[in-house]
Amino acid sequence: MRQDTGRTTRPSRCVLGYRAGMPESRSQSIDLVVVGGGIAGLWILDAAIRAGLSAVCVEASKLGSGQSICAQGIIHGGLKYTLKERDLSAAGPISEMPLRWTELASGDPKNGPDLRAAVMSSPCTWLWRTDTLASRLGMLGAKAALRTKPSTVTKEKRPLLIRDAPGAVLRVDEPVFDTRSVLGALAAAHESTLVAVDGPEGIEFTSQGGQVTRVILRHGKAAVTLVPRAVVLAAGAGNEGLLSRLGLDASIAQRRPLHMTLLRAASLPEFHGHCVDGNRTRVTITSGRDAGGRIVWQLGGDLAETGVARDPAAQITFAAAELQAVLPSLDLSERPDAAWSTYRIDRAERRTRSGLRPDDAEVLSLHDGRLLVAWPTKWALAPRLAAAVLAALPPEIAAEPTPPADLTGFTPPEIATFPWENCTWTSHHDVRSAAPA
Ligand SMILES: Cc1cc2nc3c(=O)[nH]c(=O)nc-3n(C[C@H](O)[C@H](O)[C@H](O)COP(=O)(O)OP(=O)(O)OC[C@H]3O[C@@H](n4cnc5c(N)ncnc54)[C@H](O)[C@@H]3O)c2cc1C
Repeated sequence: MRQDTGRTTRPSRCVLGYRAGMPESRSQSIDLVVVGGGIAGLWILDAAIRAGLSAVCVEASKLGSGQSICAQGIIHGGLKYTLKERDLSAAGPISEMPLRWTELASGDPKNGPDLRAAVMSSPCTWLWRTDTLASRLGMLGAKAALRTKPSTVTKEKRPLLIRDAPGAVLRVDEPVFDTRSVLGALAAAHESTLVAVDGPEGIEFTSQGGQVTRVILRHGKAAVTLVPRAVVLAAGAGNEGLLSRLGLDASIAQRRPLHMTLLRAASLPEFHGHCVDGNRTRVTITSGRDAGGRIVWQLGGDLAETGVARDPAAQITFAAAELQAVLPSLDLSERPDAAWSTYRIDRAERRTRSGLRPDDAEVLSLHDGRLLVAWPTKWALAPRLAAAVLAALPPEIAAEPTPPADLTGFTPPEIATFPWENCTWTSHHDVRSAAPA
């Protein structure tokens, strides 16, 4: 994991005072202010409180309303990485995550949050292929290289959907979690230290060269001034705006866009898996439910990466054809309620030279750990990120923690809703008739 001091940052002085007409707020010392309440901020908050520190996590919108609520929730153990990269070092840091998360979900919280209330949608994912030559090679590579060893299952034990898939079908012990339930479990454990503010402007910083000396939080009529010993920026794509506001270089962050496709039908089976084509994950399917109990499939993988160049209608037409190719036994014409949608979202990460995904969770440490910028890189890596953040804090904080802050008047933020709750749907019937003959 890369932890370093940011040479790319430039010093500046930034003092943002009280907004005109707002009341003076009470001032209190605190060990840690975490900005952003996605999987990263919530896990860091949990780790800090477990370590005996006084900490708050401040959210400008709803918890997880960036990437975390949209994540497919797969706790990767290196499968995707080993498919693409001969060098297995990238799979190393992530290989322990499936077991770690499974232990936390089964009520064995060794140095981690209690995730018993979180929903594990599936204990495993499935790996299958189409019948192209590239696909055959990809499966061989996968079988030889994976650290989270996949097991070949007999035809009778395959999910119905891929019973007749060509070649081997593999079961990989990478669990899949319902993202909203994980965010809910983390939030429930720390309600008193989670703070909703009035959007990004509900947080005001007094800082010098990026070192934050005061943080003023506002929500409606409530206001508090915190004097933090350290601040962690864990706001996903919001880190860029926060860095700029602190006079620091926001180009240390990168975004990688996706165009996700959704398929909804009451009678869809719950399914979680990757169709591999050569060294590509052609489509990754995970399943959730909408408020009405209907199954919603999220379609990611290469389909979402290449889909960035397509408009929503073209993406739906392409996705329907891809699904037909990778799951020929799925007959959507038998499901009159089948409907499609898409949404766009950016993955927010620390910048790499290549512009590709960093290998691990990333923490940038400034001012001897008094300002940390954190990106988990993957949802699955949140435990590693939190451990790295705690290790990067100035040692005197842990040696002599400050008492908890009084946050009277503030309320915890709500949890974000799934992306499929607020989107526009196109009937599968209309997609078929729109597709070229
Ligand atoms: C479609 C998709 C699918 C994915 N699937 C997987 C997967 O299956 N497995 C996996 O391991 N990873 C997956 N990932 C990656 C994973 O989702 C991210 O790495 C992870 O969720 C990032 O979490 P975060 O907390 O850093 O950021 P976010 O989830 O984006 O959270 C940032 C939070 O900060 C808040 N915020 C923003 N600005 C401010 C501000 N100025 N002040 C206060 N709060 C602010 C936001 O409202 C939000 O709540 C996926 C990503 C995407 C986009």
